[in-house]
Formats: sequence, C-alpha cells, structure tokens
Amino acid sequence: MVDSISACEVVIAGAGPAGLATALYLLRARPDLRGRVVALEKSAHPRFKTCAGGLIPKTLLALEELDLPLEVPAAIVTRGEAHTPAGTVRLERGGETLCTIIRRDEFDARLARAAREAGLIIAEHTRVLDVEQTSERVRIETDRGAIDSQLLVGADGSGSRVRASVFPGGKESLGRALMADIAVDPERAPEFKDHCYRFDFRCVSAGVPGYAWSFPCIVDGTPHLNVGIYDQHPRATGAAGGEQALMLTELRAAFPELPLYMLENRTQPFRAFPIRWFNPRDSYVMGRVLLAGDAAGVDPLMGEGISCAFEHGKLAARAIAATLEGDRAALKGYDRALHRGHVGRKLRKLKFAARHFYGARHRRFFRLARLSLRAQEIGVDWYNGVRHTDERSMRALVALWARAIFFRAPVR
Ligand SMILES: Cc1cc2nc3c(=O)[nH]c(=O)nc-3n(C[C@H](O)[C@H](O)[C@H](O)COP(=O)(O)OP(=O)(O)OC[C@H]3O[C@@H](n4cnc5c(N)ncnc54)[C@H](O)[C@@H]3O)c2cc1C
Repeated sequence: MVDSISACEVVIAGAGPAGLATALYLLRARPDLRGRVVALEKSAHPRFKTCAGGLIPKTLLALEELDLPLEVPAAIVTRGEAHTPAGTVRLERGGETLCTIIRRDEFDARLARAAREAGLIIAEHTRVLDVEQTSERVRIETDRGAIDSQLLVGADGSGSRVRASVFPGGKESLGRALMADIAVDPERAPEFKDHCYRFDFRCVSAGVPGYAWSFPCIVDGTPHLNVGIYDQHPRATGAAGGEQALMLTELRAAFPELPLYMLENRTQPFRAFPIRWFNPRDSYVMGRVLLAGDAAGVDPLMGEGISCAFEHGKLAARAIAATLEGDRAALKGYDRALHRGHVGRKLRKLKFAARHFYGARHRRFFRLARLSLRAQEIGVDWYNGVRHTDERSMRALVALWARAIFFRAPVR
C-alpha cells in the first residue's frame, strides 16, 4: 500500500520518459532526496507503450547529459524520404544519425532501472485516481491507498488523471496515431538496406492532417517495420469510427507494397493512442502540481514527444529542487519556461507549422519547403536539436541560411 511510504517529498504520477527524466535529473542534482521521491505507475516495467520509438538526436544529448548509455537494441537511421503533396524530398546529413529507433518497453525499463539505482521508489500497479491540495500539501488518492507529498508531477501521459483532477476545463488538443509492427526481410526492405525512414504527407490532401510513417525496428531480435499514421485533428476526418477507417486507407495508400490490408480486415492487430499536443493557452502549474511530457502537451506537427519529456523533466527537476530550497517563485518559473523558454518557443513554431502544413493551403507550404535544400538541412537540424540548434533564435537560423545560400558556407 502506498500509504506505508513515509517521508516522501515529491510524488511523480507516471513512470514513462517524462516522469523518469524528472526523477533522474532531480536525484542527480539532489542525491540527498534518495528514497524520498516516489513514482506511482499503473503498470509495471517492462510494459508495452504504443509508440514508434524514434529518438531524435536531442534525446540522445539528454541521455549523454545524464551519463546514461542506451543499452537497448536499436535501428539507426541516416537517411530520410518524405512524399508530400508537392513532390518527394530526400535527406541525408553526411551519414550522421537522423534517428535511433528503440522499443519503448525496453527503453522505458532501462530508464526505470537507472532511476531506481539513483534512489527513486517506483510503486508499480498503482493507479492515480484523484488529487487534492492545500497550501501546505498535496494528497494523491490511488487504488492502493493515499499518499501525501510536498509536490506532485503529473507525468501520466496524454490522458492524464492529474491534469483532469487539477486543471479542469480548457480546449482539448488531442491528436491520434495508430501503428502496427510488420515482420520484414531486411535484404529487401529499403528501411534496412538504406538505413532510412519514410514519411508520407499526401494524406493531408485526403483529409487526414498528419502523415504516415515507416521506421525500421528490431522486435524480439528480428527486423520489423513500425508503420503508422498520425492525425492531428482526428474528429475532423469523419463521424465517430470513420476516422480510423480513413487513417487505415491512407496508411495503405502510403505503403502499397506492404500487406496493410491485414490491418483493415483485422487479421493483423494495430494499436491506436492519443497524443496531446502543445496548446499555448494551457497552464502547466497549479499550486503544488506540475505537468510534464504528454500530460502537458508535445509537438503538434509530428507528434514527437520523447525529447520533450526529457526537456520537461529537466526543467521540472530544476524547479522542484529550487522550491524545496525555499524559492517560492520556482514553480511559476517552470510554467514560464514551458511557455517562453526554448522548449515553448520550439513548440509554438511547430504549432504554427502544423497549422499551415495541415491547413487548406498545405500544397503551397509543401512547395515552399521543397525549394531550398539548405533550408531543409537547417530545418532538420533544428527539429532534431542537433548540437542544440533548436535553442538558437529565429534570427540566427535565418542568418545561417543566408550565409549558406549567398556565401556557400556550410550549414554547420
Ligand atoms: C503511435 C505513436 C507513435 C509515437 N511515436 C513517437 C516517436 O517515434 N518518437 C517520439 O519521440 N514520440 C513518439 N510518440 C509520442 C510518445 O510516445 C510520447 O510523447 C511519450 O511517450 C511521452 O512520454 P510521457 O512520459 O509523457 O508519457 P507516457 O510515455 O505515456 O508515460 C506515462 C506513464 O504514466 C502511466 N500512467 C498513466 N495513467 C496513470 C495513472 N492514472 N496512474 C499511474 N500511472 C499512470 C502510464 O502507464 C505510463 O507509464 C508516439 C506516440 C504514438 C501514440
């Protein structure tokens, strides 16, 4: 029972990347909190998570910062191909890794092991049900009793119970993605032969504001493709139930060479899951409660959320450490950082991009995006957070592009 856990300073709801990154950064800064930070997890590691498992270079920088070797099987991607309504774009960055594809059960279990070693207590099979707070404490009700704490981090994913209990109302910004793993012959699949991932945005013209993907991955030691489709506005694509059918049709159209009819006739299972995306009108702090990761909202354009989970975790850890040391303004600073800091600024730009690339004039924007290879390279480096490019100002990025175009300067 969780009520037997005493002397707890910080409770984290959810032991996914956001919750575990918060714990890892916090216990690194404050090792004296060992045994006094508790994560409540409804499931148990290793647990399945509906996710393609693509780690952008930004996430690997966070792992490096935490001195955490990956230590799980991964497929490395060095090339990309995107079909758009305005033509095809191919990208390569001199053989550098564009994406590292892992399985979430293995990756999250690896993070959980590191967090436990650092002193996090993970109460598994414990579901958060409700949250109440006073000016002094937060009380978290779970299906295994109640626990009191000074601070609570809601890192319990897109359908966050903490968010629903503490941050009621507001516009829901929920996208949806569905995916399946298909066994392939690595000698024949371009994803394995060319170390490449493939995207297809042509579904936007058919009414699915998003994209289909095909990533190489290793499932139980054997080569597979993780294929799926993201829809930023699932209700926009049809009446209840209709949206999934349209998503499956568009997924099949994107990769006609794969046996995806098996998803439509349900002989091959697929998984669907919501993705909460960043809405600048949201609040991320209420009293003694903070939101992180999907519970707060992530990238609206691509639905990428693992790098965000680490960024949020780092900022949350900093704010928690400062609060415990008596800084009363630190939690407000977390809210400000998520809105106005480099993560917030990046997510705002991605929201802007999603509005245009997935809007009525999407062809025009895809045409624009195809015009300059240099701009594509800078855009990919920025998106991937390579060498922290995503923390540079818009002005610095435009200057970089101008130097590359007019003086043929390298973009790195
Ligand atoms: C199909 C699909 C593909 C995706 N592909 C990618 C990708 O390739 N790359 C990428 O970066 N992102 C991807 N994402 C997004 C990514 O999965 C999320 O952004 C990421 O998992 C967010 O981490 P998190 O820790 O915030 O939430 P989660 O990973 O959802 O973790 C939340 C944790 O909280 C637990 N929990 C939930 N409710 C409760 C409760 N009431 N009580 C206790 N515990 C609870 C859950 O069991 C879970 O362990 C994808 C998402 C989908 C749906």
